[in-house]
Amino acid sequence: MLWPLAGALIALSVLCAGLILLLGWHLFKLKRFLLWLDSPALPLPEERGLWGDIFYRLKNLLKSQPAAHQPHDISHEQIRLVAEHLPDGVVLIDAQQRIVWFNQAAETQLGLKGRSDIGQFISYIIRNATFNAWLTGAGEDRLTMPAPADSSRSLALRRVPMPGAQQMLFCHDITEQVRVDAMRRDFIANVSHELRTPITVIAGFLESFADMEEPDAQRFKDYLKLMREQSDRMRRLIDDLLTLARLEADTEVVIEPVDVAALARSLMQEAQSLSGGRHKVSLELDSDVRIAGNHKEIHSALSNLVSNAVRYTPSGGQITLRWRTNAAGGGEFSVTDTGEGIEPQHIPRLTERFYRVDRGRSRALGGTGLGLAIVKHVLQRHQAHLRIESTVGKGSTFTAVFPPERIIPAATETPQSPGQAAA
Ligand code: ADP
Repeated sequence: MLWPLAGALIALSVLCAGLILLLGWHLFKLKRFLLWLDSPALPLPEERGLWGDIFYRLKNLLKSQPAAHQPHDISHEQIRLVAEHLPDGVVLIDAQQRIVWFNQAAETQLGLKGRSDIGQFISYIIRNATFNAWLTGAGEDRLTMPAPADSSRSLALRRVPMPGAQQMLFCHDITEQVRVDAMRRDFIANVSHELRTPITVIAGFLESFADMEEPDAQRFKDYLKLMREQSDRMRRLIDDLLTLARLEADTEVVIEPVDVAALARSLMQEAQSLSGGRHKVSLELDSDVRIAGNHKEIHSALSNLVSNAVRYTPSGGQITLRWRTNAAGGGEFSVTDTGEGIEPQHIPRLTERFYRVDRGRSRALGGTGLGLAIVKHVLQRHQAHLRIESTVGKGSTFTAVFPPERIIPAATETPQSPGQAAA
């Protein structure tokens, strides 16, 4: 319109100025939009026209995806779901000690039943005086007690005050921790006791020496012999403790092919020398397969079985060592004796540290009470296990059973080269 009236130059200048203004306006809106993107928590700018349309659609989009826009906000329902599936028990109780809510773990640990216990006084359901006194008292916020649902389990409870005089109870199952603590205490008590006995004996002899008015060569010699026996006993005990500690500390077994037949031959010689001719010792080799394992560890385990057979079999008895493959394709090394045998109730506990059927007899025979614990550990490290069969008055058979995966057939090359490690 301007062109014919004012000429081309003026018309084009006005058009350019208009376009520059329009561009400036859009750049201004764009800048506001970018500022909002930097802090999206602020409300969207109110606009009209094209920009108003863009902001309106963006608002609707944000409304439909609140979680994506606010990733750190979790809903009530989400919190409830998480608490529901916690491995620890959680119970919410009101100011009058009535149950408001509890999760699945609390059902198992505290014996709460489904939803029917909601609204009940907790003292009606958990009938434990210490627990109820603790819950209503103002003292400690923690308590350890047997699980109401299963008294063989132990629970550590913690109460946390909540708004409106409510309380949240948290229950953690500490059965395993209690068991390990008790085992550690027993072990320390046993070791101290085992070491104190020989030291007391040696100290007694030393006092006798000091009290001797005049030297008596024969008594002196006798005492020295007994002192030596006691120090040997301490050394054996410390050796066994170190072996067990090493087995527990090493997570990996160094694997090599172990020729069990050759090992059995040398164990037979060990048995003969330990027996000193008091027993008949024989060897039955029904297999020549080798096993993938650690020679030193397997030798130590099998030699414990042999030495037990010699020690617990009276003179004139028979001891048989045998190596064979079984029907499953595994290997079995057994030591059979015609000794005193073991009553069935003792058998499951024989591999516990310091467990002996007859403490006095074991000590008299130079036992440490750790031999079968070492055997069990070594076999476990080779995925093998110990089988014990015994008849009182007839004798016992202790068998180390190796799984087929550990067997190296006679004609085959070693599956794993020496020095290779396996868990
Ligand atoms: P110890 O050093 O006392 O022999 P072990 O751990 O080797 O300890 O054995 C634990 C207990 O198992 C022994 O004290 C003994 O009572 C019993 N025992 C082990 N081997 C035999 C066996 N061949 N015959 C009878 N009892 C055995």
